[in-house]
Amino acid sequence: MDNRFKDITDRLKDTQNISREDLAYVLEFEGEDNREYLFEAARTVSEKVFHKEVYLRGLIEFTNYCRNNCYYCGIRAGNKNADRYRLTEEEILSCCDIGEKIGFKTFVLQGGEDPHFTDDMIVDLVKKIKEKHPSCAVTLSIGEKPHESYKKYFDAGADRYLLRHETANEEHYSMLHPASMSGAERKKCLFDLKEIGFQVGCGIMVGTPHQTFDHIYEDIVFMQELQPHMIGIGPFIPHKDTPFKDEPEGSVEVTLRLLSVLRLLFPKVLLPATTALGTADSLGREKGILAGANVMMPNLSPVNVREKYLLYDGKICTGEEAAECSMCLKRRVEKIGFRIAEGRGDHPDFV
Ligand code: SF4
Repeated sequence: MDNRFKDITDRLKDTQNISREDLAYVLEFEGEDNREYLFEAARTVSEKVFHKEVYLRGLIEFTNYCRNNCYYCGIRAGNKNADRYRLTEEEILSCCDIGEKIGFKTFVLQGGEDPHFTDDMIVDLVKKIKEKHPSCAVTLSIGEKPHESYKKYFDAGADRYLLRHETANEEHYSMLHPASMSGAERKKCLFDLKEIGFQVGCGIMVGTPHQTFDHIYEDIVFMQELQPHMIGIGPFIPHKDTPFKDEPEGSVEVTLRLLSVLRLLFPKVLLPATTALGTADSLGREKGILAGANVMMPNLSPVNVREKYLLYDGKICTGEEAAECSMCLKRRVEKIGFRIAEGRGDHPDFV
């Protein structure tokens, strides 16, 4: 066991803080014992807060139209090969009906920034879901909007909002996005969402082109300021129809270590073991839970559209029906000694 690695882990656990140098050390130091020590420390914290329960969110990818052109994304506006679709309101409501029947208590409505879905349509949809499923939470993940739009969604009953900040470093942001988008605007959206009262999720991909450990440290500083309720991280996986098609995939190992670091920094945060992690490594989601994650987001979208919502190549679980997905995850979670939670799975401060 490397003493410095152990000391950093212990200090991180005791103080919920980490320096730039220590972060780089923990993310890149080689040695099996050390990583296990970190994972175990994070798992202990996670078990103390969440009692070995894993929260499930039913993901409904309701539109793959997007007005933006993020360089890493398979459904970017510039990808002429994407087979575009929008689910109808009836189809979305039907996904929720199926979802609640098989035990989901959270629906995540995710899509590109699609102007077809006006604020009124989103408000109407949220209200209908909440009327039909009053004990369920609704999460929106539909990108950057004005403050007043977010407020309308919240007043309609939406509980949570996911908006990955992608990178807190403005220069790095400009390497991942066209000039029409700015990291400052994205951060403003996150603070707006928080001020309105949403449970807010930010996040990054690990191993995006040009990313350094310094950037990840800046992400942590930003998160310490924002104090998000959720943090979504997964490895970068290239998509064949994007400018980053030839870039290398992000590291699963660094992703797992970062999950642990985040669990120790933010003991109560909701931390998904992402589908990207499960795509990069067939046991990635289980490893994520064992490294301190506590959320999984199986797909509730109709099977006939799943192959069309490809943000990256090789995405898993595009063929299974929702019920199969949910049973598969239940088995996976139980196999590693955890269980699926029955409630909505709110952030502990919102319970
Ligand atoms: S990452 Fe989001 S905003 Fe960017 S192109 Fe993809 S769907 Fe659109």
